Amino acid sequence: MLDSLGPLSVRPLHAPKLIPWLTRFARSGTPQETERISRALSALNARVYEDLIPLLKDIGLSGELRSHGALSVYESEEGYARDSAEWECKRSRGVMVQEISGEEARRLEPSLGRIVCRAVLMPQWSHMNDPKRLVHGIRESLLRNGISLRQGDVTRIEPGPDCVSLIFDGGHRISTEHAVVAAGAWSGVLARRLGEKALLESERGYNATLPNSGVVVHRQLIFAERKFVATPMSCGLRIGGAAEFGGLNARANFRRSRALVELARRYLPDLETEGGTYWAGHRPATPDSLPVIGASPRHPRVFYAFGHGHLGLTQAATTGRLIADLIMRKLPPIDLSPYDIGRFN
Ligand SMILES: Cc1cc2nc3c(=O)[nH]c(=O)nc-3n(C[C@H](O)[C@H](O)[C@H](O)COP(=O)(O)OP(=O)(O)OC[C@H]3O[C@@H](n4cnc5c(N)ncnc54)[C@H](O)[C@@H]3O)c2cc1C
Repeated sequence: MLDSLGPLSVRPLHAPKLIPWLTRFARSGTPQETERISRALSALNARVYEDLIPLLKDIGLSGELRSHGALSVYESEEGYARDSAEWECKRSRGVMVQEISGEEARRLEPSLGRIVCRAVLMPQWSHMNDPKRLVHGIRESLLRNGISLRQGDVTRIEPGPDCVSLIFDGGHRISTEHAVVAAGAWSGVLARRLGEKALLESERGYNATLPNSGVVVHRQLIFAERKFVATPMSCGLRIGGAAEFGGLNARANFRRSRALVELARRYLPDLETEGGTYWAGHRPATPDSLPVIGASPRHPRVFYAFGHGHLGLTQAATTGRLIADLIMRKLPPIDLSPYDIGRFN
């Protein structure tokens, strides 16, 4: 954990602030909790195509979803054996998993080197060609439909009996019928200002996008023992991973992006690494890996939609649909109690 380039790292200065989160995280690791959490995650994940595909069609971006599956690859039998409980859990939740040999993996992905001795194919998996195009597409579609967008830092939320006011940095105020706090890893600060207990940390991740990688990859590759992935996108091969707990204001350490590229070469020996662009982002992490989706117990006009950790893109359309149901007073299609903010009290 203290290796700043390892898959999981904690910045020492931030460690004391992590104690409440880590305490809750430890409690989430019991067999009963794991069962409950995986059930609640799978209730969301089972819906994601149902909610995402019509949205993509609406905004004219159906072609951005690439449904080619994903391949989790192993460099040792021991690594594969260590993950057996995870695969069993996924199978029990309806995830299709197909165990294949290293040779079979290379037949599917000829760029993989000899290091791969085992793999697991997940045919239901999809990836987006480029998340940035998705965000732009959604914005354009909102504007075309007469929605006005205002960019700015909300410093305060003031709920009242008839409306809720958002106060922006600089003093500008907007009053609305409802407000949804969907500010990613920064949502904890806003929720706490509203009097809620919210255990949310930044789990920072890094990536490198190689526009001329020199290798052909057909589907997302997951390097299971080293906890990182390579995804073929329209803008290049994106190599991403790392879980760094250092708070929202720590400087990014882009040596991590470079380290991921070097690691990827172990599996993709012909990988060309010149000309990469590097990026770091804050994953909003709850200690039980479940997002917060639901109404504020204190302020009926305020709703929460944050804490999606590693799955924020995957679960975004579903979360949007669930929040819309709540605001429109429709019965949501799944039980939302596991995602209630009150669980942190
Ligand atoms: C390296 C990496 C790889 C990832 N890979 C995947 C993946 O393969 N699949 C997947 O599903 N997910 C993935 N994720 C996770 C995903 O990116 C996040 O879960 C997702 O971005 C969270 O979405 P969000 O809208 O809640 O928050 P964000 O995307 O962080 O957006 C929050 C927005 O709120 C704004 N904001 C913050 N505070 C305020 C304020 N006070 N006032 C106004 N605006 C504010 C921020 O500026 C930001 O624009 C990955 C993340 C990382 C870092």
